[in-house]
Amino acid sequence: MKIVILDGYTENPGDLSWEGFEKLGFLTVYDRTPAEEIAQRIGDAEIVIVNKTPITRETLIACPSIKYIGVLATGYNVVDVTAAREREITVTNIPTYGTAAVAQFVFALLLEICHHTAAHSEAVYRGDWTNCPDFSFWNYPLIELANKTMGIIGFGRIGQKTAVIARAFGMNVLAYDAHESEPGRELADYVSLDELLTKSDVISLHCPLLPSTEGIINKGSIGKMKNSAILINTSRGPLVVEEDLAQALNSGKIYAAGLDVVTVEPIRADNPLLQAQNCFITPHIAWAPKESRARLMQIAVENLERFLRNNPVNVVN
Ligand code: NAD
Repeated sequence: MKIVILDGYTENPGDLSWEGFEKLGFLTVYDRTPAEEIAQRIGDAEIVIVNKTPITRETLIACPSIKYIGVLATGYNVVDVTAAREREITVTNIPTYGTAAVAQFVFALLLEICHHTAAHSEAVYRGDWTNCPDFSFWNYPLIELANKTMGIIGFGRIGQKTAVIARAFGMNVLAYDAHESEPGRELADYVSLDELLTKSDVISLHCPLLPSTEGIINKGSIGKMKNSAILINTSRGPLVVEEDLAQALNSGKIYAAGLDVVTVEPIRADNPLLQAQNCFITPHIAWAPKESRARLMQIAVENLERFLRNNPVNVVN
């Protein structure tokens, strides 16, 4: 049984082990695979493991040995699942592995906006504290979260975990979701999207990217927010119309944004958010603490084991 991992680097840049897969077959791991080498690298392998490398209908036609495609992520839009189904190829994903990590990262971005910890530390190392006439100084407004309102759009696993942390900070939590749930009601007040936009001091996005959610943050919805609002997006870039957000930040319509995702990744040099005021952007790292990647690896190996035992789980096609 030949197993090919086409783009293993982001999942395991060297701090984890591929031995779970090695035990299941003859394993070849590539850090990255350019589009023109995908079919040749798969060759006659039966098992293909990918993260973001596209597996198209043409690749499936060129590589008729493929029996299984394991996606090392939750989103599996990189695989043509219809073409895979037609060929009776099983496609699996990792439905959940990083809930705690992503919810924690919401607060990494939010606390940076509230305290500018990195910039203040840099100022201290520059000598600004040594030369300060007072015992203390701050270069940015400092913001306390207690008694402020966190509005969460998309109140599923990560949204609810974010609510638990927000409540620990003493925040009030509002939620908007297409489907309300009993556990959700215990953590937040469900409100309409308009009410959430108007009343929240911090708005955090946790809905999936769907036709109904694409561009949910746009000129119109931003217009309903408080001028002091802080927007956090750790979900998917296209939920936000980036031009509209950049304008809102530059004109002071809203106060700040913390973004782990953008519409085109890696970020393009001409992304308007790179020129926006009070905008903090990280390179899609919310999912990536080692603990979270280790969990992902373990589930990916279990998915393949279950497939090989004719008892597949986490099948998406
Ligand atoms: P989930 O499925 O548990 O929750 C999503 C929630 O969104 C559900 O409650 C669903 O009802 C709701 N929803 C669907 N359509 C909606 C709509 N039109 N309006 C409002 N709510 C809607 O998913 P999750 O595990 O909480 O993950 C949420 C998102 O986080 C994922 O879709 C993914 O895009 C993102 N994510 C990002 C990272 C990262 O590294 N930045 C890592 C993992 C996941």
